Amino acid sequence: MRHIAIIGSGPAGYYTAEAAQKEWGDEVRVDVFDTLPVPYGLIRTGVAPDHQSIKKVALRYEKTALTENVRFVGNVTVGEDISIAELQSLYDAVVLATGAPQDRTLGLPGEDLANVFGSAAFVGWYNGHPRFADLAPDLTGKHAVVIGMGNVALDIARILAKTEGEFAGADIVAHALDALRTSGLETITILGRRGPHQIMMTPKELGELAELERASPHVDPDDLPEPEADAILEPGLRKSVALLRTFAAIPESERAAKSVTIDFDMYASPKAFRGDGQVAAVEVERTRIEKGRAVGTGETYVVPADLVVSCIGYRTSPIPGVPFDERQGRFANESGRILPGLYCVGWARRGPSGTIGTNRPDGYALVEKIAEDIGPGGRKDGRKGFDALAAERGLDIVTFQDWKKIEEAEAAAARAGAPREKFVDIAAMIGARG
Ligand code: NAP
Repeated sequence: MRHIAIIGSGPAGYYTAEAAQKEWGDEVRVDVFDTLPVPYGLIRTGVAPDHQSIKKVALRYEKTALTENVRFVGNVTVGEDISIAELQSLYDAVVLATGAPQDRTLGLPGEDLANVFGSAAFVGWYNGHPRFADLAPDLTGKHAVVIGMGNVALDIARILAKTEGEFAGADIVAHALDALRTSGLETITILGRRGPHQIMMTPKELGELAELERASPHVDPDDLPEPEADAILEPGLRKSVALLRTFAAIPESERAAKSVTIDFDMYASPKAFRGDGQVAAVEVERTRIEKGRAVGTGETYVVPADLVVSCIGYRTSPIPGVPFDERQGRFANESGRILPGLYCVGWARRGPSGTIGTNRPDGYALVEKIAEDIGPGGRKDGRKGFDALAAERGLDIVTFQDWKKIEEAEAAAARAGAPREKFVDIAAMIGARG
């Protein structure tokens, strides 16, 4: 019997559990730990609340979670309730699938002003992550600046731009919907330090900006390269750039009919945040591209900003004693191997890139490596040992069956047409299991 502990119940965690089950059938026991009492990581707290179809992948994880040899061990914080060393003494393999929950910072003057947020915090807030439920962003100003040209920037611009009606069927939490009702936003500037050919936005997500009820995207035609230059782009990026071209062609009169403009400001690198207590503006330097990199031109200007969300990527949270690659912001690893018996997978392994589906091959590849390393296993106590330790420490474990009750309570509390109203407080989640 092999005993595997997976830390983190998001896509990387559950695909790894699924792969372990495929590899060893009944000859494996997998415990999937999470610090929250609820599973699924970024599926619950990262994927945009108006992208419900993406969240359906959780049904696949549920199938894995409900099998005999896989169990969910919620409400346990590894590093506090139990150490990595203790887990290693109990399990043949310990897999860190902890994602990248910390915001990368820009390191710019004024970044600590009120109403300047990182995307992990802001997305966590509208998705009801308990860590960020009290963020209380002020959305009453006219100008928002979203920094970065990836899909997270798109998610945030879209959420800020939507009308209440456009959240029908979404699981955006009540506190976020209430705050959005107070929105005075007229302009959402997406600030990108490079140009159209360097955007990280995918076509489906970018195309959604053209479908919004009260908002219209705007691209300065002068920022676009000659159309022939698009030929060298890979097909996905070529489609995205084609969409930027359609945004640039939207007539002024059509844009004026909408109350919100989503303005792409490219070749624009943030230099400082200005404001008295609360942010009021972003100082920006015009850039040009040299060998693919954004280089400052010395020309600066100011973009009004009552709210700033910086969407420039994430870092994994270090765990004491686990080798960490500071520069990359993830665990130091060789194809998922960190130390004997200790592994990482997903964003904790490769950094915050790729789609949810990228984590599937990642999990399967890691299980191959674990199989090479641990052979038949059989020398560790596994979950029996963990249960004894948990009882000794009085840990209040939340099981998958408990989660199903929490899930039921969230569904029962949903607004009309919405799939759920999430609990945003850990005690409330635990209380809901009855
Ligand atoms: P991302 O795709 O890596 O984009 C980060 C953006 O931040 C880039 O435009 C980057 O510009 C910019 N940036 C980085 N450092 C900067 C700096 N110092 N100053 C100004 N700009 C800076 O990251 P993400 O948007 O956080 O997304 C993370 C992953 O999740 C991606 O793989 C994404 O596709 C995925 N995701 C997918 C979906 C979806 O499929 N619906 C939704 C959300 C997220 P440079 O290119 O110039 O560095």
